[in-house]
Amino acid sequence: MSEPIKLFQYNTLSALMSGLFEGSLTIGELLEQGDLGIGTLDEIDGELIVLDGKAYQARGDKTITEVSPDVKVPYAAVVFHQAEVIFKQRFEVTNDELHTRIETYYDGANLFRSIKIHGTFSKMHVRMIPKAKEGARFADVATRQPEYTVENVTGTIVGIWTPDMFHGVSVAGYHLHFITDDHTFGGHVIDYVMSEGIVEVGPVDQLDQRFPVQDRKYLFAKLNLEELKEDIEKSE
Ligand SMILES: [Zn+2]
Repeated sequence: MSEPIKLFQYNTLSALMSGLFEGSLTIGELLEQGDLGIGTLDEIDGELIVLDGKAYQARGDKTITEVSPDVKVPYAAVVFHQAEVIFKQRFEVTNDELHTRIETYYDGANLFRSIKIHGTFSKMHVRMIPKAKEGARFADVATRQPEYTVENVTGTIVGIWTPDMFHGVSVAGYHLHFITDDHTFGGHVIDYVMSEGIVEVGPVDQLDQRFPVQDRKYLFAKLNLEELKEDIEKSE
């Protein structure tokens, strides 16, 4: 039997949403666990994009930089992506249309999937969470997040599809980040129109859920779960 494919998740979206923004896992450690994924940086300073084993930071000021191995993250999910389904999308589609097509290839709705889409986008609408101090409510910070829409860009969408039952641990459905081929634009995907592209869907056999066990703020945080669910709906 081949090696099981493991989704590595550091911390939970609920902890991040409740204001635990301080990074505690290094990018170097994270990249040992996967070559594709998403996350955010220390003090939620933008969006983390992991593509082909490299980590990039898309900040609210529209800059993109490769992240050095010693930088810490409060939340991330990565996997060694292995395409199980690859198809070419030859006609223009909206994100909703493409996602519906992608889901026709799923074996049921109870397993995570890795997603990689390389294409030309006639419209790409992203946001970047702006840096904020520990303890602020993510949903409040998200109300002043910069959003950008660009036209006719070529690049890659990376991310994870999460089953409903894991909502809170991460966000149910698609969590996708985008980066252009020339690494000059990217962020957390809100919506898009793709002219054409190649779509890869990867299986996930295991979830390796890590917790920030050295972080006393996490250990003793009082989480308001109802409020968190609302916040995740609003901001993701
Ligand atoms: Zn994101």
